[in-house]
Amino acid sequence: MRLSEDGSDGVLLGTKCNGCGLCVFGDSVFCVRCTSGDLKAVDLSPDGTLYSYTIIHAPPARWKGPVPYILGSVKLPEGPQVLSEVIDIDPNAVEIDMPMKLVLRAGEADDEGREIMVYKWQAATAG
Ligand SMILES: [Zn+2]
Repeated sequence: MRLSEDGSDGVLLGTKCNGCGLCVFGDSVFCVRCTSGDLKAVDLSPDGTLYSYTIIHAPPARWKGPVPYILGSVKLPEGPQVLSEVIDIDPNAVEIDMPMKLVLRAGEADDEGREIMVYKWQAATAG
């Protein structure tokens, strides 16, 4: 993720293969489909659709958020799926294929006391 200058906004970064066109989330050294090393960094769209989700009742030990919470995999127009928490929604209201948008939230401070921005998914409501 790359943050804007004031840190309030950010974009997800992906890697696109110049050989076969495959786009993946995050850094890659070589393409997982065609093994080409001819890759370029691309900005990913902040909008996608919910591809799958899991309701987590037993979070990891360090989890400080609500329980249960929703872990959603959102499919972006460029192709990659990005896994993160889906926030501000009743678990009963979650539906596959619903439009989602990327939001940033202040997470826990790191070991040096700096606040870490984390990305989450939120339902993209009309208007
Ligand atoms: Zn490739």
